[in-house]
Amino acid sequence: MARIKLEGLKKTYAGGVQAVKGIDLEVADGEFVVLVGPSGCGKSTLLRMVAGLETISEGRLEIGDRVVNDLEPAERDIAMVFQNYALYPHMTVFDNLAYGLKNRGFKRDEIERRVQEAARMLEIEEFLPRKPRKLSGGQRQRVAMGRALVREPAAFLFDEPLSNLDAKLRVQMRVEIKQLQRRLKTTSLYVTHDQLEAMTLGDRLVVLNGGRIEQVGTPMEIYARP
Ligand code: ADP
Ligand code: ADP
Repeated sequence: MARIKLEGLKKTYAGGVQAVKGIDLEVADGEFVVLVGPSGCGKSTLLRMVAGLETISEGRLEIGDRVVNDLEPAERDIAMVFQNYALYPHMTVFDNLAYGLKNRGFKRDEIERRVQEAARMLEIEEFLPRKPRKLSGGQRQRVAMGRALVREPAAFLFDEPLSNLDAKLRVQMRVEIKQLQRRLKTTSLYVTHDQLEAMTLGDRLVVLNGGRIEQVGTPMEIYARP
């Protein structure tokens, strides 16, 4: 099932920086876990190791029932939502959503079905024929989420997806991600340095410091402490 399990995960960069110093963590099926902590604490490195964008120096990583340490990103059955919109400006919203599926050789009607379904869930159906530049920031962000959604991955990884948005939009998108999470019950690992974002979104928070886990708990357990 969709579950992410990290055992003794470590990362030492060439040059000797120990960015991640031994992380044990399990994200349960359907759980939304937020990695939070100050800049440089290793959040991004950890997420990128899960995504397969960074090699793992030591430890074991499972997604679903598979050890994926040596698998390419595309083989890991995960989708990543990035900070920038990462949309193709010259393509319509439909084609932006369909692009990755086309590349993977999905059949036309399956692509159509998945794109329509993602668009319905994100309430962006009316934008499907439009180009991204005709959309507002929030609408573009939803399309970016749609690109991950159409892949129907076992788990979603979020790398500070809201940090480039203005304050108002950030709040709005936070609510939307929360609603989406309630509806879809996706297994998610979400990175942010924003405590409010972490509290709003996370079923469970993992506070990192200096490449190690400092605290793990529900938002209440972590922030309601004296
Ligand atoms: P965060 O996402 O919490 O800001 P990072 O994972 O980006 O933290 O960085 C953790 C540590 O690893 C920092 O000391 C950072 O300077 C270092 N680091 C990040 N990326 C690289 C890299 N490609 N090469 C060497 N050191 C890096
Ligand atoms: P799309 O985002 O439209 O689905 P692709 O999935 O084809 O596009 O990915 C484009 C590039 O990103 C490829 O080089 C692929 O290896 C890489 N990639 C695939 N899956 C992921 C992922 N989950 N996280 C990060 N990069 C990925």
